[in-house]
Amino acid sequence: MGISLWDSYPPKVSDDQLQYLAQTVKDWTIFNGLTVRPNPSIVSEESNPNHVLATNAPVTLYPSPFPKQCFEQAEDLQKVYNELYAAIATDEEWLGEVMKELVEVDDFLANLWKIHLQVKEEGYVQDLSLGMFRSDYMLHVPDDSSSPSLKQVEFNTISSSFGGLAVRVGDLHRELATYPDPTHSISYPPHPLFNTATSASITSGGYPPTNEAVDTLASALITAHQSYRDSRTSPPLPQCILFLVQDNERNLFDQMALSQHIRTTNREIPTFRIPTSKILSQTSIPASSENPSRPLIYTHPANPNARYEVTVVYFRALYAPTEYDTPAAWAARHHLERSAAIKCPSILLHLSGSKKVQQVLTSTDPSHLERFLPKTSKETLDSLRASFAPQYSMSEGPDSEGVRIALDPDLAQKHVLKPQREGGGNNIYRSNIPTFLKGISEKEYKQYILMELIQPPSKARNVALRSDGQIVSGDVISELGIFGTCLWRSKVGSQEKNILQNRMGGYLLRTKARDSDEGGVAAGFSSLDSLILYEEAV
Ligand code: ADP
Ligand code: MG
Repeated sequence: MGISLWDSYPPKVSDDQLQYLAQTVKDWTIFNGLTVRPNPSIVSEESNPNHVLATNAPVTLYPSPFPKQCFEQAEDLQKVYNELYAAIATDEEWLGEVMKELVEVDDFLANLWKIHLQVKEEGYVQDLSLGMFRSDYMLHVPDDSSSPSLKQVEFNTISSSFGGLAVRVGDLHRELATYPDPTHSISYPPHPLFNTATSASITSGGYPPTNEAVDTLASALITAHQSYRDSRTSPPLPQCILFLVQDNERNLFDQMALSQHIRTTNREIPTFRIPTSKILSQTSIPASSENPSRPLIYTHPANPNARYEVTVVYFRALYAPTEYDTPAAWAARHHLERSAAIKCPSILLHLSGSKKVQQVLTSTDPSHLERFLPKTSKETLDSLRASFAPQYSMSEGPDSEGVRIALDPDLAQKHVLKPQREGGGNNIYRSNIPTFLKGISEKEYKQYILMELIQPPSKARNVALRSDGQIVSGDVISELGIFGTCLWRSKVGSQEKNILQNRMGGYLLRTKARDSDEGGVAAGFSSLDSLILYEEAV
């Protein structure tokens, strides 16, 4: 990134301009559903006893510049990544090998694996699987003179969120950059990035590109629903898609963007939301003696006569151990897994998204990529491999490279230690790593992986409007997510798979303060952002 771009971005504004911009964003977000239910730390239970309030999602006031070439590389890799993870989830034996050492020390993964084995023993009755993925990246710039490269932070196979709100952020920033006229924005001062000032060194898109995340994600649910086909109930019940959500979900408007899209484009497909605590009371599976095909029957709580056969369960919950705080939650996961509904994701696909799998994939001895992607060109595999940051196993004993780096206070400075968890707030960074490891037994090391820290551009800046209305400005780090979906047919025990749909479409940019290690928006670390693609003359 040329120093000149960040030196002048975001452009300087007067207090009046900033107030106008912030007020416009506050009003636009509410009007257009770029919203969240407020965290009690922002609006106390006392002031919001009936939980009626919503506020703007944390959002940047300006889109962030992003190198076009890196964005296109991420887009190009998505369908390859989709296929890779479909292949991993289909290879039960390989995944079982990876899980073997983890289940010894990680009860959460052990319980998930146990459910898979129980359902396998009984016999799976659905051979379609749906993946709705998000591959997350950061730009890597090891020193200011090098051009940025793209490095993957993680690949998400469960509850990949923010597609719904990301589309709206793009719409917001596009409007701010182009209203009332693309050559003259009221909200943003002239700048080469908006194509409203000239620059010899920058070619820019001028405003955020169209974001297709909602269409991509909703279409995957629709295709899966249609692929379920014949009813397994007699007489046949109408069919529906279930959105499985957390009790007290605050990010529901992001989810509703998908269900609303299905309602407007495919009115005949009902979608319903079910909180985890209600799975066992609002859904049922007929006894095997009565109906061995195990349809999942949903009874609407507001109308006991409204009964549906569930075609797809879309998990926006049950990815974190804290959600399994009762035996009923585990029973509910088992209940869904053994049903005939198409799971997004199945337990095998959920486990394929483990950090450990991502670490094992970086290994070149043996190289697993060729095995999972036998038809992919060498050039594409090289590009995929180039998107990996170095990662190390922590399971190979005290003399192994991973353990040696993690325990060395100097080397640990450039690394992050990750457990097999999702949703933010679980990692251990830099100098905390050796101290942390000394506090646990060596036997437990293997539940972690060690990853080299990606070094994002050092000069990036932006301004964010927090959900409590505060405006914060400063040095930032952005993380790009690309959405992709895959629907395939396979049988547990066989590595054969038949891909029915493989699609890429839509992006998320999350931007956080430079001094924050973690990146989750829901966890309160980041703001939603969008991007403007640019190229720099060399
Ligand atoms: P989670 O599943 O909890 O989202 P991640 O692997 O995405 O776990 O890590 C959480 C956050 O930590 C990321 O969003 C990113 O901001 C930061 N992070 C993770 N890995 C790296 C890395 N290798 N280099 C720099 N930052 C990282
Ligand atoms: Mg993450």
